[in-house]
Amino acid sequence: MIAPDRNTAICHLQELVRDSRRAVAFTGAGISTESGIPDFRSPGGLWTKNRPIEFSDFLASKEMRDEAWRRKFAMEDSFRAAKPGRGHLALAKLLHDGKLSAVITQNIDNLHQVSGVPADKVIELHGNGSYATCLDCGTRYELDWVKEQFDRAGGAAPDCTGCGGPVKSATISFGQAMPEAPMRQAEIETLAADLFIAIGSSLVVWPAAGFPVRAKRNGARLAILNREATDLDEIADLVIRDDIGDVLEVFLDE
Ligand code: NAD
Ligand code: ZN
Repeated sequence: MIAPDRNTAICHLQELVRDSRRAVAFTGAGISTESGIPDFRSPGGLWTKNRPIEFSDFLASKEMRDEAWRRKFAMEDSFRAAKPGRGHLALAKLLHDGKLSAVITQNIDNLHQVSGVPADKVIELHGNGSYATCLDCGTRYELDWVKEQFDRAGGAAPDCTGCGGPVKSATISFGQAMPEAPMRQAEIETLAADLFIAIGSSLVVWPAAGFPVRAKRNGARLAILNREATDLDEIADLVIRDDIGDVLEVFLDE
């Protein structure tokens, strides 16, 4: 059902949480817009400005790697300045209260961890943008180091100092293989959950959007909280088309 108004929505969501033994949250870029990080698909979102660089293009071309890092550093100030919003804080509280067993996220902004969710309870399907790695040997590089090299070379992406491989932000690009361990962990959490709450995701990015589908097929209740309609609204038990912070802040006072 689509909740007709905010109060009804909040009541139904509270009821679902109360009745659940094991809930899982699944978050997308929409939970971080309150923190000042633009999403992809809202009107005026990043998607309308720059189409993301595909993994194969990143690998194939030096110019694309330079461009990827140029864009990354252009965004970096808003990422570094970002603080958790009410949605992040509410999920952290639900987790600490034992109502939530994990947060599966498509986000790369590290804000669930900053809000107090233990790192082992944040399952990152698309990696983490707060550091970089060599794609060939896996060596970790800090962004400050990459920036220094990038600036010194007049805007050129650095290669790994050990093996010469390409250094990429530790995020999963379109066309890049999904990370195995988080995918496994997300599957375990999804199949153990009796309530699955999708928050701030357009649910069009696959395979990530497969998790709410699997939860529902496995018998869990599915709640979707997103300002706009999503592709999975029709299979959800509860659809809330409202602002995430305005809805979830109720859990901060419980
Ligand atoms: P998306 O941009 O496709 O969808 C975000 C959805 O959130 C939109 O439907 C929008 O209507 C909704 N939304 C935005 N602000 C909201 C608010 N305050 N309240 C309620 N709804 C709100 O995002 P996605 O589904 O996560 O897919 C985008 C991909 O891009 C992700 O897989 C992620 O890897 C990446 N991404 C991450 C970040 C981040 O880390 N913060 C930001 C942009 C993109
Ligand atoms: Zn290397």
